[in-house]
Amino acid sequence: TTLYIPCDSTALALGADAVVQAFAAEIERRGLDVSIVRNGSRGLFWLEPMIEVATPAGRIAYGPVMAADVSSLLDAGLLNGGAHPLGLGAVEDIPYLKRQQRISLRRVGVTDPLSVDDYLAHGGTLGLRRALGMTAAEIVKEVTDSGLRGRGGAAFPTGIKWNTVLNASAPQKYIVCNADEGDSGTFSDRMLMEGDPFQLIEGMAIAALAVGATHGYIYVRSEYPHAIAALSTAVIKATQSGWLGDSLLGTGKQFHLEVRKAAGAYVCGEETALLESLEGRRGIVRAKPPLPAISGLFGQPTVINNVITFASVPDILAHGAAAYQSFGCGRSRGTLPFQLAGNIKQGGLVEVPFGLTLRELLYDFGGGSLSGRPLHAVQVGGPLGAYMPESQFDTVLDYEAFAAVNAVLGHGGIVAFDETVDMMKQARYAMEFCAIESCGKCTPCRIGSTRGVEVIDRLKAGRPGQIELLRDLCDTLQNGSLCAMGSMTPYPVLSALNHFPEDFSRRQT
Ligand code: SF4
Repeated sequence: TTLYIPCDSTALALGADAVVQAFAAEIERRGLDVSIVRNGSRGLFWLEPMIEVATPAGRIAYGPVMAADVSSLLDAGLLNGGAHPLGLGAVEDIPYLKRQQRISLRRVGVTDPLSVDDYLAHGGTLGLRRALGMTAAEIVKEVTDSGLRGRGGAAFPTGIKWNTVLNASAPQKYIVCNADEGDSGTFSDRMLMEGDPFQLIEGMAIAALAVGATHGYIYVRSEYPHAIAALSTAVIKATQSGWLGDSLLGTGKQFHLEVRKAAGAYVCGEETALLESLEGRRGIVRAKPPLPAISGLFGQPTVINNVITFASVPDILAHGAAAYQSFGCGRSRGTLPFQLAGNIKQGGLVEVPFGLTLRELLYDFGGGSLSGRPLHAVQVGGPLGAYMPESQFDTVLDYEAFAAVNAVLGHGGIVAFDETVDMMKQARYAMEFCAIESCGKCTPCRIGSTRGVEVIDRLKAGRPGQIELLRDLCDTLQNGSLCAMGSMTPYPVLSALNHFPEDFSRRQT
């Protein structure tokens, strides 16, 4: 019998290792024939550690399981999928999972993340094999036709970026993965890297074939030690298996990959600051142009994409652009792994095609607030994303629909708040965050954010005229900053001001 117990950071933080130890001891004591596989997380965090047992009728889940539950689970016939108060039934039938359409995270939680055999048995390397039989231009066309846009937040069409690198002539080109997932409430990159690292590697190898690069780097945030460990092992195993390194699947085409621990600064998630950091310098934003696609890492043409962007590519190559393109709405094609966090009953990962409404995500998946009070505001798209009031919960989850209400989908992180939130405090936090994380290169961001904190403090103290000043300051930040750090800080501030004026006006004299 096989028992699956996640090794994902969330499950570990909730006691998964203690559950493994308890099972190992109890299995030995009872003389049972059971093997424990450490899988990734399915992303139902309120049920972690969620364990699964493989039965002839499929995998049956139990959760949240504590070490103290192990004896009673075995007594109840866990190994045959027996009934227990923690029983959740067949994994695939859990509504939260059943209603999802997983593409980029299809294997996460299903397989042993570091088993090459598991990867191959679940469709791994199919995309790479097809790509190896295509010309570079054909691969780029496939990705362009899929409609895939950058999942890091900027939503730039991936095929156009790759085409620029393909057409640049240079002695060396690079593939860089931005795995500096620093947005509040986000964890899809981490889950993918911990739960299915081979898929990211395969996506980057396909990108290398598409543009003629032979070397790549994965820049992983330093706060993700488990992801760094999983990727490092996966790179070695993929190389040993012959689909990474000197000769991709015996074709003689090369792709070498290195994992780099990031510097621990939010701004290093900005692509040019990331490149500076990767080159060994302080993470300061570079002026554009030149674009990284023309002059990126070490001055060479560079594809730089987010984890989920690369992880979407193997499926596009394996099943064709049309299949991927058939999901989604408008110009937002495919799926996005949304991440529900904050004051929400059922926090976790929800990969669905674009087109659902925010309300469906918050209530049908999230189950409303954890506190039981009405949801009052949600911040979508990280610390620089807009706060959306209840009146905007029917906004369709698509890049353009969000832009139309001055909001951003970003990396798909959603942080929920109930009515106890003080939106003026949240606005101050946005300015403070910018002041702390600013790289310091340009004045509006470096100085303006500090002035922003002061203006809000004066507003709080009841000084008149401060709202006008705050709006002026936001205008300067938005239009005068070099990168998104400064130009997007006004999103949370202005949305708080516009949608929740009562939290500010009661301070006005
Ligand atoms: Fe640096 Fe801020 Fe200017 Fe961006 S906006 S370049 S983070 S100072």
